[in-house]
Amino acid sequence: MAEYAMMSRIRALIFFRALFVTLLLGSAFLFRIEYFYAYPRTISLFIISLYLLTILYALLAGRVRNIRLFGYVQLVLDICAEIILVSITGGIESLFSFVLILTILSSSIVINSRAGYIIASLSSILYGVLMDLQFYRLLPQAFDPSVSEKVFLYNIFVHTLAFYVTAYLGGYLSHRLAKTELLLEEQDTQLKDLERFNIKVIESLPSGLFTTDVSGRVLIFNRAAEKITGVDRQEAIGRHISDLLPFLPVPLREGRRDEVIQVGTGGKKIIGITISVLEDVSGKDTGHIGVFQDLTHLKKLEIEIQQKEKWAAIGELSSNIAHEIRNPLASMKGSLEMLRDRKIPEKHRDRLMEIALHEMERLNNIITDFLTYSRPKPLELQRVDLHLMLDETLALLKNMGRDKGDIVITRKFDGPLYALVDAQKVRQVFWNLGMNAIEAMRTGGTLAVGTQVSPEQIAISFEDTGVGIDPADLDRIFYPFFTTKDAGTGLGLSIAYRIMEEHQGTITVSSNPGIKTIFTIILRMRHGEL
Ligand code: ADP
Ligand code: MG
Repeated sequence: MAEYAMMSRIRALIFFRALFVTLLLGSAFLFRIEYFYAYPRTISLFIISLYLLTILYALLAGRVRNIRLFGYVQLVLDICAEIILVSITGGIESLFSFVLILTILSSSIVINSRAGYIIASLSSILYGVLMDLQFYRLLPQAFDPSVSEKVFLYNIFVHTLAFYVTAYLGGYLSHRLAKTELLLEEQDTQLKDLERFNIKVIESLPSGLFTTDVSGRVLIFNRAAEKITGVDRQEAIGRHISDLLPFLPVPLREGRRDEVIQVGTGGKKIIGITISVLEDVSGKDTGHIGVFQDLTHLKKLEIEIQQKEKWAAIGELSSNIAHEIRNPLASMKGSLEMLRDRKIPEKHRDRLMEIALHEMERLNNIITDFLTYSRPKPLELQRVDLHLMLDETLALLKNMGRDKGDIVITRKFDGPLYALVDAQKVRQVFWNLGMNAIEAMRTGGTLAVGTQVSPEQIAISFEDTGVGIDPADLDRIFYPFFTTKDAGTGLGLSIAYRIMEEHQGTITVSSNPGIKTIFTIILRMRHGEL
């Protein structure tokens, strides 16, 4: 049992003893109980010494070292006083033997069950001695002569039994009490530990954290929050959160957002903040919790990286363009240099001229394609029959594929399919995908074109049995100038991608090299289309 708990019980004992003595003796005088008038001096001495003792106990209560001993001394003195009280109020005929029981009970409760038994034994002995003294008429207290020795013995027996039963009961009670106390204390320390832990966690968080009550007043504001906002906790707690973070909506709403805050007179900070509702155990809203981070540095890095990526992409594109232009220029230069030599026969001159013109044409085409990619014309939407457009494209492709072994083109669609698109651009997509498929089937194969229509979208697929795409190249085929062909420009797919983007559609690819490659474009239905 904790010492301080015992001390507080001893204090209670001192208080209740004084109260009890006052009540008991006061009432005796009030009722004019004659015993008390038999020994007026003894009684007054008795009362005075009891009150003096009480005062002494009260004074000592805060000072003694050995608290248990302090308790024992009081209890033993109590028993002695009570035996004196019993003896002067008639010994065997006294009404006051029950006060001994009270003291035994107090000893179990105030100290422990062992003390209960010790005090019970002391009471039994003293009470027995008192009875003997009275029976052998060694005390002045007279008793009814009809009371026999047997009754005296029986009286001692009953009292002794009562004392020990009380000690047992008191011990049991005090044991239970101690156990409950211990449990409560344990729970209390656990709760305190948990609270300390929570506070530590909140304080150590690298993110700013605040909580508010339902009205939006700040309750918790952690160290990181102070650091990020530059507002002191003392200043923050109790204020409305929108005073500290003015961009927050009133009342607070759940969600995530990035915001700029002004920190003191210093710079601005970008913070990312997430607000959630706080609930108590019963699920009732008790306010909000906000967690935020300083993203200033991160955003700066992000912008830097974006900038770097942009420059890298521009650099790569430029070198690709230069490369694409240099090739035809080189052959043009070669042809023109040879033409300068007048001794070249007429026949060869025509051929060289043709080469130069062809290269110029190629150059022009590259530039036209590139401009289509880099400076697209605005969309000119019109209602067109996509199936009809596919048929026209397939007819042209059939011609292109004629000199390439056995190329079969199948169509898996029927009837008209109207959609609101830029006809010229979509035709270009069909053509680029179709051409790639034909070019991929160097020794023949099948190109199957099909459409799938649902209320939300139109999917058009080009499936070929050509060489397929190396998985390592899959990410790059849509980049401008990426090509695996000698005479390719690498612009076909990038233009198709661009056009699909302009139509808010998508283009995807899946390829199983040597077996089949499928390009699928998806056009989303616009409201009121069809
Ligand atoms: P180009 O046709 O000028 O090479 P594209 O942008 O049209 O440029 O295509 C880029 C690359 O994607 C091609 O070089 C080729 O390697 C690959 N590719 C495109 N379509 C197919 C296909 N149907 N089958 C196999 N590879 C393809
Ligand atoms: Mg192509």
